[in-house]
Amino acid sequence: MEDKNTDNVDLSKAGGQTKLRIAVQKSGRLSEKSLNLLKEAGISLTNGERKLLAQSGSYPIEVLYLRDDDIPQYVKDGVADVGIVGENEYAEKGSAADIIERLGFSRCRISLAIPKQHEYTGPEYFEGKKIATSYPVILQNYLDEKGVNAEIHVISGSVEIAPAIGLADGIFDIVSSGSTLISNGLSEVDVVMKSEAVIIGDKDMEPGKMEILNDLLFRIRSVQAASNNKYILLNAPNDKLDEIIAVIPGMKSPTVMPLAESGWSSVHSVLSEKQFWQVIGKIRELGAEGILVIPIEKMIV
Ligand code: ATP
Ligand code: MG
Repeated sequence: MEDKNTDNVDLSKAGGQTKLRIAVQKSGRLSEKSLNLLKEAGISLTNGERKLLAQSGSYPIEVLYLRDDDIPQYVKDGVADVGIVGENEYAEKGSAADIIERLGFSRCRISLAIPKQHEYTGPEYFEGKKIATSYPVILQNYLDEKGVNAEIHVISGSVEIAPAIGLADGIFDIVSSGSTLISNGLSEVDVVMKSEAVIIGDKDMEPGKMEILNDLLFRIRSVQAASNNKYILLNAPNDKLDEIIAVIPGMKSPTVMPLAESGWSSVHSVLSEKQFWQVIGKIRELGAEGILVIPIEKMIV
């Protein structure tokens, strides 16, 4: 049973030695989600106590645990074949390597913020001012693009307190809910970049590794499709069947089976999470009853 997950990957190539080395964040906001993604893709790691390098007994992969700042460079140097990193960190390190897949988690934005009592007039507000940030490269590119001269003060943490302690006039930092800004008396004035977790790597990697990567991507997409969709079962009056089916088209088309009670059918389909509540509202209006919604574990698309 151990080998169940290796079905699609030919381990016999290169004497079974070819492994894909993937860099993930050692500890931080990306770690748990990155490892969870691998786990859901059927990849179990042997040394769980997070040494620098972990192996998998079930898949030709090695996991390298690093600080997120180091991941783009390790991938660029070929020490790791691919890495899971925030797009912001990838951009900050000069877009080393290629973005291979967007993962949709750890979404955030990188924004400029100023003390809330000040009036923002546009990027020229920052002319001659001091901005504290951990992302000097992205910020400098933005300022150059806008033709603004500002002094960038690089700090590695707690950027949001810089204006209050007189270190800077504004900040350029990660924002997700915005609550950190509010509690520091700052207001977000310009969203410079939107970010999510991405897989980076060299698109021209050696064929053996590419084969493993493609299999991994196939698994990841199946896991993601599953979490973005639900399986739905409902009872529909036959005279409304066509209208109900039109709102829940499913993967190909819904399964329709007669109920024991005449005049009614059971309809099974797949529904995207995004339109979920809207569709449920419509089918109820059309007379659907006994609606059951079930999570999908994997969805092969
Ligand atoms: P390391 O110790 O590895 O250098 P770090 O402190 O630089 O970690 P984290 O705070 O763990 O970084 O954040 C890692 C990544 O997670 C960020 O680069 C960003 O892409 C994303 N991220 C950061 N903060 C948030 C947030 N509040 N919401 C969503 N995503 C975030
Ligand atoms: Mg970091």
